[in-house]
Amino acid sequence: MASDRDPSITLRAGVEIIALALLPVDPSRQVYTILRKCFVDYFGEFLDSVFAEKSPEWRLKISQTQKRFEEVVSWVSPPYKPMTSEQALSLIDGASPAVWRDAVLRSVGKHPRRGQPRSKRHLAVWALDMKCLDPSLTLRAATDVLCPCGKATGQHTDKCREQLRQQINRLVKFLKTLGYDFTWERIGADGRRESE
Ligand SMILES: [Zn+2]
Repeated sequence: MASDRDPSITLRAGVEIIALALLPVDPSRQVYTILRKCFVDYFGEFLDSVFAEKSPEWRLKISQTQKRFEEVVSWVSPPYKPMTSEQALSLIDGASPAVWRDAVLRSVGKHPRRGQPRSKRHLAVWALDMKCLDPSLTLRAATDVLCPCGKATGQHTDKCREQLRQQINRLVKFLKTLGYDFTWERIGADGRRESE
């Protein structure tokens, strides 16, 4: 059926609405904001490829845009269990710059999506966003706030820190493919985050 309307415009509007529902806008979080924009862009590209005219490369193009979209989804999807405000406060008690106390508290009460494996990737996004807000943040302090192992503040092990560090490194690598340098030490040194 022929239509005068450009279907891609309708698609993009739908993508924006889905993004708003799934990923609330939060300008205070730099890395999250970049990933959120990628989510919108890549979702749109994926849908465009699905609805594109069928050519010999059609399926390949779909699988490429899908892969790219799923990579960014893996970083921004919030699969974590909702925290109560008491849990959140106890997590950040002690070593708690006010800026990320607010940020963590804002995530309280988000609904988990049932049936999804718990990815820890979103913790790395939090870690880098906290580091941007407070460049003096140490890996130890970030682990105390973010590690999901259940240990109390100050009780997390080298293994806890190593796991978070590895996720951060993977995220930093991914962000570099997007043209951003969020290397932990670099943020600590000068707070800069964009490649020049
Ligand atoms: Zn731990």
